[in-house]
Amino acid sequence: MTATEPRHTTTDGGAPVASDEHSLTLGADGPILLHDHYLIEQMAQFNRERIPERQPHAKGGGAFGEFEVTHDISAYTRAAFLQPGVKTEMVSRFSTVAGERGSPDTWRDPRGFSLKFYTSEGNYDMVGNNVPIFFMRDPLKFQHFIRSQKRRAANNLRDHDMQWDFWTLSPESGHMLAWLMGDRGIPRSWRHMNGYSSHTYMWVNAGGEKFWVKYHFKTDQGIEFLTQADADRIAGEDADYHQRDLYSSIERGEFPSWTLHMQIMPFEDAKTYRFNPFDLTKVWPHSDYPLIEVGKMTLNRNLTDYHTENEQAAFEPNNLVPGIGLSPDKMLLGRSFAYSDAHRARLGVNYKQIPVNAPKVPVHSYSKDGVGRTVNVSDPVYAPNSYGGPKADPSRTDDAGLWYADGDMVRAAYTLRAEDDDWGQAGTLVRDVLDDEQRERLVGNVAGHLSDGVSEPVLARAFEYWRNIDKQIGDKIEAAVRSGA
Ligand code: NDP
Repeated sequence: MTATEPRHTTTDGGAPVASDEHSLTLGADGPILLHDHYLIEQMAQFNRERIPERQPHAKGGGAFGEFEVTHDISAYTRAAFLQPGVKTEMVSRFSTVAGERGSPDTWRDPRGFSLKFYTSEGNYDMVGNNVPIFFMRDPLKFQHFIRSQKRRAANNLRDHDMQWDFWTLSPESGHMLAWLMGDRGIPRSWRHMNGYSSHTYMWVNAGGEKFWVKYHFKTDQGIEFLTQADADRIAGEDADYHQRDLYSSIERGEFPSWTLHMQIMPFEDAKTYRFNPFDLTKVWPHSDYPLIEVGKMTLNRNLTDYHTENEQAAFEPNNLVPGIGLSPDKMLLGRSFAYSDAHRARLGVNYKQIPVNAPKVPVHSYSKDGVGRTVNVSDPVYAPNSYGGPKADPSRTDDAGLWYADGDMVRAAYTLRAEDDDWGQAGTLVRDVLDDEQRERLVGNVAGHLSDGVSEPVLARAFEYWRNIDKQIGDKIEAAVRSGA
């Protein structure tokens, strides 16, 4: 903190106040007077400082930055901010998932990796994670999943039995668990992790050609992790370890950066690919869809007010711009409602007028009124109209986000294809990607987690679950837990 020029204190109404220290009383020792407006304003404002924390992703932080396109990918998307050489201002937010606002940054958890690009065609948000997959495929299970990771009703404690009960009854979580229980489950800092869209999105080029795409923001700082023992120690010493690291690194002028690469699948491939490419529990192997370099994101400016610029930052997957659309990924379609609804609940219906959320292009929508509105509307307030109000211009948009679908209305899992299963890619990760030391730490992490309050029959199911991923790893985990190692 640096000293600033002297300024006189005012009320919220801008009038000078008489004292920063003394309430108005009847004589120095007498009762406080109710008409001390400044005292009442201070107390009332203080009582209303906290807004509901996010449910989930409550603990987090971020910074402002810039995204620059370094390679020509105009063949795949017409989005203006993705054209060669374009630089776009942006804001980021990184977070844990299950912990509350004051919880330790170093708990084992996926990390949110949310980005908002203030593009010349409106805001584009990439609401990703530091992991390319997720625990489930259907948004109906999401609420239950988060409850299982948070706190029990009776004792308000987090509970590993509850967590493993849900996971072992949800085998589609296997790939994510194999990832989360490994080294990358606790990044050394937010600077030392990748960010992935995880979901598949659609890109559309200037000619109207469509592609399915996945985003990979690869850290230029290199991947680094914390062991469980180090993370536990740091959780006690500095709960805000990751937030402090990002802030002080930018203060020092060390600006973290990430290089964006894309996996791009021709539109027609999706129909016949060997597994459902929209299944959020699976990656697309690099050998099938190699990474294509796009540009660089650099975080170079710290927040000046955490509350207005990050606590109130509202990211949502449906902030899309021409040239980018959604996909048939059911989780993505669910999130496209859930996020904006969460923001309306936490921040009010006019949350897009909060400066960090406001686009840097003119807004001509027909939304009006509501709590907290700050931008004036003008007549006409309806469409169609004869008085010069905004008119939709289809030539400025495209059919991004649109694809052909038909069928009976059903409640069913995705139609299975030849290589759709719950365990295959988890097994590949454990056997082919991890080395011996990483596998050993994975076994230790899982065994430690299972040894902390997980009881039968959940425990037996957990051993079976890991044997389904890899027989040897499952046997080792059971041996470690049973022997108390
Ligand atoms: P590749 O050998 O081409 O890719 C393996 C990838 O695994 C690496 O590129 C790296 O991704 C990532 N990785 C490396 N170490 C770890 C670790 N300790 N924990 C988690 N991920 C790690 O093979 P495939 O593309 O065929 O994928 C094989 C497996 O790798 C998948 O089943 C999946 O579990 C995992 N993976 C795949 C990714 C993909 O998009 N294809 C992305 C991340 C993981 P990165 O370079 O992104 O850091």
